[in-house]
Amino acid sequence: MAIDLHTHSTYSDGADTPQQLLKNALDLQLTAIALTDHDTANGVTEFMKAAFHKPIRVIPGIEISASYLGHDIHILGYHINPEDSRLNNRLKEIRKERSDRNFKLIDRLQSLGYALSYDEVSELAEDVPGSTSDKVISRLHFGKALLRRGYVKTINEAFDTILNPGCPGYIPRHQIEPEEALSLIHESGGMAVLAHPLLYKLSLDELKTLLERLKYGGLKGLEVIHSTVSPEQTQVLKELANVYHLHYTGGSDYHGINKPNVPLGVGKEQVLIPDSFSDWL
Ligand code: AMP
Ligand code: MN
Ligand code: MN
Ligand code: MN
Repeated sequence: MAIDLHTHSTYSDGADTPQQLLKNALDLQLTAIALTDHDTANGVTEFMKAAFHKPIRVIPGIEISASYLGHDIHILGYHINPEDSRLNNRLKEIRKERSDRNFKLIDRLQSLGYALSYDEVSELAEDVPGSTSDKVISRLHFGKALLRRGYVKTINEAFDTILNPGCPGYIPRHQIEPEEALSLIHESGGMAVLAHPLLYKLSLDELKTLLERLKYGGLKGLEVIHSTVSPEQTQVLKELANVYHLHYTGGSDYHGINKPNVPLGVGKEQVLIPDSFSDWL
């Protein structure tokens, strides 16, 4: 009996449609799954519909990016209302910021000698049924385009040598404050969880200060199992969660074949995410 509370579909940078994702979860006999696309809830209604009368619990979710000390941090929201107009209007603006960055990124890559066009990157963001203008084009799609053109051998190499902070092709984008991400989640009926806390390259003190700040803003949980987190690190994160009275959660951060080494339904080293992690949701 296992669950997965962190997954992406074609509505952001995952490779599976919500329907394919649900089918994969049923094949694995997961008992619960949350769809948590980056800065969009547009896939959630389809996802819920696909699960109708199926033996799985689906949790509507989202993963919102925010900025803390110049680091990109991600806050998961569970049980948000995907139809909430205030949430959707603000998410649209947030997606516009990413899209503005994408145009600058194309210019930057071209000036570095990478012959990419906006259209070819956009095509790599798989077509989203019914909403082509609103798809989230992330740096992952730039990585795919660089790979397809043969500039790099893997998507990881594209990030490590071109797209990540400190590399020539990195362009920051304007991001919201963590408190705004929390209130967007709360005002649409959701509960907030800090995603993959060890991926932000924060010192322990910086992470603790972030957790204090988020807890004050109503954070309810900490993602302690993730495809990048070893079982030893899970233990450390559980202790941290205990200090701040946060629930444990876990998810793979599945992106389909866009992240080939991240299978659905497990954390690092094939660790299963226990059912009990969703009891409070
Ligand atoms: P953005 O939010 O548009 O700046 O793009 C960041 C996205 O790139 C995140 O959603 C990650 O899933 C993705 N990403 C970051 N590093 C990697 C990597 N090494 N391989 C594949 N995807 C990555
Ligand atoms: Mn992603
Ligand atoms: Mn994330
Ligand atoms: Mn994610």
